[in-house]
Amino acid sequence: MHDDAMTTSKPAASASRGLGDELPDTMRAWVLGGPDELSLQSKPMPVPGRAEVLVRIDAVAICATDLEVISYGTPAMIEGGAPFNKNFTPGHEYMGTVAALGPGVDEFRVGERVTVEIHAGCGQCKRCRMGMYTSCHNYGMNYGDHDKGHRANGFTTNGGFAEYAVNNINTLIRVPDQMSDEEATLVVTAGTSMYGLTELGGLVAGESVVVIGPGPIGLLAVAVAKALGASPVILIGTRESRNAIGQKLGADHVIDARSEDVVARVKELTGKGADYVVDCAGTETTVNQAVHMTNRGGRICLAAFPKSAVSFDLGALAVNNIYLYGIRGEGKSATHRAMAFMEAGRFDASLVHTHTFPLDDLPTALKHARERIDDAIKVVVSNQPGITGGAKGK
Ligand SMILES: [Zn+2]
Ligand SMILES: [Zn+2]
Repeated sequence: MHDDAMTTSKPAASASRGLGDELPDTMRAWVLGGPDELSLQSKPMPVPGRAEVLVRIDAVAICATDLEVISYGTPAMIEGGAPFNKNFTPGHEYMGTVAALGPGVDEFRVGERVTVEIHAGCGQCKRCRMGMYTSCHNYGMNYGDHDKGHRANGFTTNGGFAEYAVNNINTLIRVPDQMSDEEATLVVTAGTSMYGLTELGGLVAGESVVVIGPGPIGLLAVAVAKALGASPVILIGTRESRNAIGQKLGADHVIDARSEDVVARVKELTGKGADYVVDCAGTETTVNQAVHMTNRGGRICLAAFPKSAVSFDLGALAVNNIYLYGIRGEGKSATHRAMAFMEAGRFDASLVHTHTFPLDDLPTALKHARERIDDAIKVVVSNQPGITGGAKGK
């Protein structure tokens, strides 16, 4: 699947660098000072506790939410407040190699390649007991007298822009040998798309699915919906290059939001409107479009975090018996299901990976992601030796 030998890391490059007995006492990690102030520092090597392992981070993808956290703090929350000047390391979409085991861990071995999901719930609240650990009622309660054991690396605990991180075993997914580091970082993104579709009902074979917004989650929502048998799958976006990737990932139709009446076009393609709409843009315009393009009794998933209050046609929602679901992250083991599709080659998630840079060049990588330089979609930062940095395949 990969013809991009130049900048795509293969598992062979991992070797046994920095694992087990070779573990150093300190590691390099990017630390968030004030807003937009990141510095590369030396930190003590984290130590895994019960039901945890130490992961040597081999690659970490940049998410739009990382950019939010670094500039505005939310939705990260460290010790009950903003994450600034708390020795906090952001980054949450990473993969790597098991480097050490906590006491009693026999579920994994040192040297196994793993990718991670973000949230390890407290395991004891009402939502965790339902499998909704991304909505844990003890979110961020992992310090002082409040310590309920919740972890969301890169949000409430240290994350992946570093050489190592500690993960609860429940957040680990094994990576098959043939999958590149970069593709493995995308499993959690596909898992978020999977979770959204699961919450909408899951059995989408033969149902129409519209995805608004061809960012990484939107593009992989197209891929997952197609793999689940949805028909037709329709993608709405404003960038032709991204809509084209959506077609490669399985969109039956793409709609250019700049030149077409998207609601009319969806109705034309589906008859009475869409059964399911996944809004990955989260703007006032797209939320209203979602409400008006969903058929009576249909369902909308809001997979984006709007920055401010959004005004929308609630009356149309009620009178048409439309359901609206807010989803957070990748609950109910959706990431494992996404990996099953990716391992089986049901879609090529690596189509959304565009750039790789070494960890030391994180600021350059963040700039590419933020400004979408060179049509950047998923920008990955790698710890593998020999990564020089730049666009995939160039
Ligand atoms: Zn993310
Ligand atoms: Zn919980």
